[in-house]
Amino acid sequence: MNNLVLESESLNKVLENKTISFDDYFQIYQDAIKDSSELISTAQNLRKKFKGNTITFSKKAFFNLINMCKDTCTYCTYKAEPGETKLSMMSKQQIKQMLNLAKKYRCVEALFVTGERPEQKYQEAKDWLKINGFKSTAEYLVHASEMALEAGLFPHTNAGNLTIDEIRELQKTNVSMGLMLENSSERLSQKGMPHYLATSKRPKARLEVLENSGKLKIPMTTGILVGIGETPKEIIESIFAIKKLHEKYGNIQEVILQNFQPKQDTMMSDFPSAQEKYFKIIVSLARIIMPDMNIQIPPNLSPQSYQSFLSVGINDWGGISPLTPDYVNPEFSWPEIKTIEENSKNAGFELKCRFPIYPEFFSFISNELRDKISVIENEEGLVKEEYWR
Ligand code: SF4
Repeated sequence: MNNLVLESESLNKVLENKTISFDDYFQIYQDAIKDSSELISTAQNLRKKFKGNTITFSKKAFFNLINMCKDTCTYCTYKAEPGETKLSMMSKQQIKQMLNLAKKYRCVEALFVTGERPEQKYQEAKDWLKINGFKSTAEYLVHASEMALEAGLFPHTNAGNLTIDEIRELQKTNVSMGLMLENSSERLSQKGMPHYLATSKRPKARLEVLENSGKLKIPMTTGILVGIGETPKEIIESIFAIKKLHEKYGNIQEVILQNFQPKQDTMMSDFPSAQEKYFKIIVSLARIIMPDMNIQIPPNLSPQSYQSFLSVGINDWGGISPLTPDYVNPEFSWPEIKTIEENSKNAGFELKCRFPIYPEFFSFISNELRDKISVIENEEGLVKEEYWR
């Protein structure tokens, strides 16, 4: 029985688990622009109902395998050109060293990130692959994931639009994988828009990869980049697109809502950051559209106020690395885990360390991977305290 009664008929229906339409959600958005208190109360209520007062994170090391990329998104500072100081092309030896370090720091997740098929555009990337003994970045990712698993870490690959065969290979070692939808709007791929020079970000292409991950039953992380010139309707449509995928395949394990922050060396350097009020409304909307979904915001992108997002519906802080920078947002270092824990506690939440796969998806993975998890798993399906602390 839910005791919260609101003026908004639509929000009362949401609380009663009744279906409301897209237009109703859009109206909720518009009402929230004037006064977001009812929306936020609803999001809080649902978070509490489905997730309690636990806030999770994944203790990870970020492996910037190669950051050349065949595409160009106008907000991206991760991508590097040959010769740039930020260029990363990790050798097997470097991966091994980083894995040892990650193990020493008691990390659980090895996050492997690359640009989109760099070998299709850059000779340097082809040479790098050849030196290491591979024909494609995907092949290298398979090997790197095997190395991680052998070293006692759990790989989670986020390498853009992989083919179904590539995903199938990675599935043998990766307990989950990631691919940001960013936004489902075709308009954002038009001339002058952020994804114009990034064919891999065409919503159709992204959704197809997410569909394939669903067919293969891979626990999948996806999400939306908020504040890149989308309309509120397009954001709600994007949340709906993810919801639809999850209804069809049941494999979306979490939704990341990432607030846009302009980067100095990009074409969008003068574009304003996503406004916090707008961002909070979007986070709350995601919670009410997908009440039992794991909803994450990266704390480093709201350094002054991340704890206030606990009251708008989130239940996860994502991957936090104690030893590597956030190469996608290098100007925003991750807060220390201790600080996040304190701030979460002050807001009434208990911080717990999860695997790169949420417990409700354990049945998706092979027995072999499941056995490896069970070695350091507690009774809640999370990482044993004595392991990660
Ligand atoms: S965001 Fe990804 S696809 Fe876009 S330019 Fe950066 S690395 Fe490439």
